[in-house]
Amino acid sequence: MKTPTVSFEFFPPKNAEMESKLWDSVKRLEPLAPSYVSVTYGAGGSTRERTHGIVKKMAEETSLKPAGHITCVAATKDEIDQVLRDYWDAGVKRVVALRGDPTAGIGTRYEPHPGGYAYANDLIAGARKIADFDISVGCYPEVHPDAPSLKAEIENLKRKFDAGATRAITQFFFYPDVYFKFLDQARAAGITQPIVPGIMLQSNFKGLKRMADLCGTAIPTRIADLYDGLDGDAETRDLVTAHVAAELCHRLAEQGVDHFHFYTMNRAGLSLSTCRLLGIKPEAKA
Ligand code: FAD
Repeated sequence: MKTPTVSFEFFPPKNAEMESKLWDSVKRLEPLAPSYVSVTYGAGGSTRERTHGIVKKMAEETSLKPAGHITCVAATKDEIDQVLRDYWDAGVKRVVALRGDPTAGIGTRYEPHPGGYAYANDLIAGARKIADFDISVGCYPEVHPDAPSLKAEIENLKRKFDAGATRAITQFFFYPDVYFKFLDQARAAGITQPIVPGIMLQSNFKGLKRMADLCGTAIPTRIADLYDGLDGDAETRDLVTAHVAAELCHRLAEQGVDHFHFYTMNRAGLSLSTCRLLGIKPEAKA
């Protein structure tokens, strides 16, 4: 297997202790030379300042190429455009452009802001007018809960590429066939850009299940069984999580996938061990 390339996703910490954990994780993952790293934006735009601060600090103080997630929620076009200009001026040339989760949280009804960008494709077109950003977008092999069908999902993804997106990152999934079916349909619809698998590294199975239920991600019984009885054993859950993630990546790589995007949950250890199982180590990149 050819050694794959990777990117890492972090979220903005809520307090000083979590912040120190985030920077510790960033430092430990930096030597793996990810293609880029990204920082999410809280539901309802709730982490705006923190996300921007972390992204800019990454650009200034690390060798990493950071991407700021940016959403349409709770902001006017002018406000979003200003953020994009600030990013570009600070040397941040990458964004992940999303509609965003609604202010009341995942699963609640989305209402576009009256003066804002309504959907991701509008935001992408807006960002393209501001600068030549590298723009990642989200996509949903198991179909976004708001989309009526897989066909509609693919049409929406095509709109985002037509508006200027560079690549798509998938919602997390566990069945390789779900990804390949989506990829085939996207290619059949004329989408030629990369569709990167998003690989979840959440070892808290209860949390994982909650997220999967909200997003419509199916968890195979075989995987649920691996976590059975481990609620009080975080160490073994971590080992299981790295194994499950690496196994999924191997199965995707066997059919030609050569880049993975890891949802790190701000924890370096799980990403490091999964990468190692894929043959990625600092020396190999040196
Ligand atoms: P869109 O592509 O805009 O589409 C969402 C749905 O809206 C579509 O399925 C369709 O039903 C409908 N729609 C789209 N365009 C139109 C239109 N023109 N007219 C009518 N209906 C339309 N959320 C956050 O809040 N912060 C984050 O940092 C974040 N990061 C993410 C990273 C990744 C890799 C992924 C996959 C998701 C992320 N999300 C994040 C979640 C995302 O914001 C939600 O899934 C959101 O509900 C959809 O965002 P989108 O950009 O995919 O939406």
